[in-house]
Amino acid sequence: MGTLPNFSIIEVAVNRHMFQNFDYILEYEYISNDLIGTRVQVSFANSKEIGVIVKIKTNSDIAVTKLKKAKLLDTKALITTDVMHTINFGSAYYHYPLGQCLQVCLPKLLRTGSEAKISQIMALELVDPNFDSSLLKKDNQKALVETLKQGAVKVNELKDRGFSTYCKNALIKKGIVRLFDIKDTFNYSFDKNNIIKNKGPILNTEQQAAVNIINSQSGFNVFVLNGVTGSGKTEVYLNIIAHTLASNKRVLVLVPEISLAPQTFNRFYQRFKVPIVSMHSGLSDKERCDAFLEMYYDKAYILIGTRSALFTPIKNLGLIVIDEEHDGSFKQSDGFRYHARNLAIVRAKYNNAKIVLGSATPSLETINNYLTNKYSVIYLKHRAANATLPKVELVDLKTQILTDGLKTGIGNQLEDLIGQITAKGDQVVLFLNRRGYSKNIVCHNCGYIFTCKHCDSPLTVHKTQHKLICHICDYQQYIPTSCPKCHNKDLLENGFGTEQIEEFLKLRYPDLGIVRIDRDNIQNKNELEKALELVHNKKAHILIGTQMLAKGHDFADVTLVGIIDIDSNLYTDDYRGLETSLQLITQVAGRAGRSHKQGLVTIQSHETTHWLLNDFVNYNKNYETIAMQLLEQRREQCLPPFANIAYILANSTVRDYAFELLEQIEHFIIINYQSDDLFISPICSDKIEKRFNRLHLHIFIKTANKTLFHEILSKVCIFVSSQLKLKGDCRFALEVDPYNIY
Ligand code: ADP
Ligand code: ZN
Repeated sequence: MGTLPNFSIIEVAVNRHMFQNFDYILEYEYISNDLIGTRVQVSFANSKEIGVIVKIKTNSDIAVTKLKKAKLLDTKALITTDVMHTINFGSAYYHYPLGQCLQVCLPKLLRTGSEAKISQIMALELVDPNFDSSLLKKDNQKALVETLKQGAVKVNELKDRGFSTYCKNALIKKGIVRLFDIKDTFNYSFDKNNIIKNKGPILNTEQQAAVNIINSQSGFNVFVLNGVTGSGKTEVYLNIIAHTLASNKRVLVLVPEISLAPQTFNRFYQRFKVPIVSMHSGLSDKERCDAFLEMYYDKAYILIGTRSALFTPIKNLGLIVIDEEHDGSFKQSDGFRYHARNLAIVRAKYNNAKIVLGSATPSLETINNYLTNKYSVIYLKHRAANATLPKVELVDLKTQILTDGLKTGIGNQLEDLIGQITAKGDQVVLFLNRRGYSKNIVCHNCGYIFTCKHCDSPLTVHKTQHKLICHICDYQQYIPTSCPKCHNKDLLENGFGTEQIEEFLKLRYPDLGIVRIDRDNIQNKNELEKALELVHNKKAHILIGTQMLAKGHDFADVTLVGIIDIDSNLYTDDYRGLETSLQLITQVAGRAGRSHKQGLVTIQSHETTHWLLNDFVNYNKNYETIAMQLLEQRREQCLPPFANIAYILANSTVRDYAFELLEQIEHFIIINYQSDDLFISPICSDKIEKRFNRLHLHIFIKTANKTLFHEILSKVCIFVSSQLKLKGDCRFALEVDPYNIY
């Protein structure tokens, strides 16, 4: 077939769960491979769909006359070549349809066909640049005026930096500041010799050495910045970012979901003069789309974002930083179940860019990768600014007196310490990874346990909301006064959560400020900022929190950290259980003594003989030496990173549908693949079989043979999509390198 210059066959990936793309005809003047990654509108199964061009072809298996026409939506690809490469890799590795992976790259508005145009970029400026902020009463308004004295600030940036809409509007109303559109007027070019707004501290020897090593290398390199908590990793990032910007390259910083605190963003905004964009779950669809386009049109040079920001088009990408690389939030747990750190490495490699994985508690995979010299490791062994690492002690709960405190988790030794520390004017952090008031509620007469209607899970008591809440599906009901089965009124609550500890402490220390930081109490960045503010200006003396509190925060006067209950983390059937417990206690412990004061960490446990706890308090061991023991156990048990594992998941409201599907898949694997190095589990129920009214079953597969592993998974996908019909509402998914144990 002769191709006319303005006519071609294109292969389009559409948003359907199918391992196949579709051919269309494109009429356009300039047809070339540059169009790969461009959005098109196509008709598919009688509806109009937005798809992405993935190939330009000269022929098709289908007669050209039968091919439908596609309508081009952009003249340039929104999915840039490097992102397309990363997604192609991800689609093959995680066995997820390309068309659906590509959807993850685009913000919702672009996914649904909006024009790729920046409408406006609103910024705030002072009406009178010399306005005297001391005329204002409110501290946050004063602070905003002072910030604006350094120049106009984008409205999004204000939000990132913790200035509320309320604060902004109040100043607009007073006529002190005004909004204007900087889309056309803002000068995006910058002097690469003059990118620093505010200088940082002078680096210490270790930091400087790290910066030198990273800056001296060019091209693709994976560096692991293994630095203890408070060692000044962020300072290292800021310095290598400056170096990258000075060579006219752009930077991507990925941060965990949890570190969305304004202080994270502030350090970047305050350091650099160059425009910065942020991308995270707190944005509206419009803001997210604008952020994407600002990067696409090269109007900003640093992008800071959570997991999915990885797929944003960035011109001339020179450096990727993954902060807290071990964090579970880099793994997507539904749909396209990718790991952002792993795909970031793929993207960096394609761009011949550097990538830095920073953490005080690197994942076992990453440790293994530097032990085998795949990555280079750089250590920061000391805390910056002369702070010392905290002392750690173990308290055996069995030896504690049965006080009211102990009933809510606080043993007498910890209770005494809290009193002593707060009397000195220092602050205390208490950590418990369980929100709510009580763990569950039981009828004292017939033993009935209140469970969720939709899940196999007991309901948690939440006193402030007067509710029982399911921590899986969020089902809620009012706290009952009697048992629905036997009508007895004696209901017994078991186990304590953060809310109960807060109540106890408020009674015990009525004069102290007590703040609880968990998902019930803190629902957005502003609330978090307010709570942290109370800590910083010392209106709060005790902080109780879940893992929201575990990392990223820097409190100078916290000298005591109490880990209330670690036991439930030590005995789980999750093979990552000990790794995550170790990371958690190390990170939480890292909140203590971050400035010149010596910190103390108290870990309460009934299991004080557990080897992990004993190693943790042993001064001759550190995170890495313990992690290496865990790695050895993984090797012995043939678990990741020494084997490949995956789940084949099925769920349905009708259990049999899911079971039958897995039965056919199991059979398919067994007859086609036999190997001593292949473990296939029988069909199992998930740990919590019923979730959201659906019954969940799975098959677990494990092999050290990577080729075999991917071969099986890809054939299973083809088998399911081409030869099986999912019955009723049955759903099927694969999870490669799972983070959750089902
Ligand atoms: P990490 O990310 O490793 O936990 P940070 O970068 O947040 O550590 O640094 C911890 C604290 O030490 C911060 O308050 C930071 O401002 C301070 N800091 C970092 N480097 C230096 C330095 N070279 N001199 C003085 N203070 C420093
Ligand atoms: Zn539920």
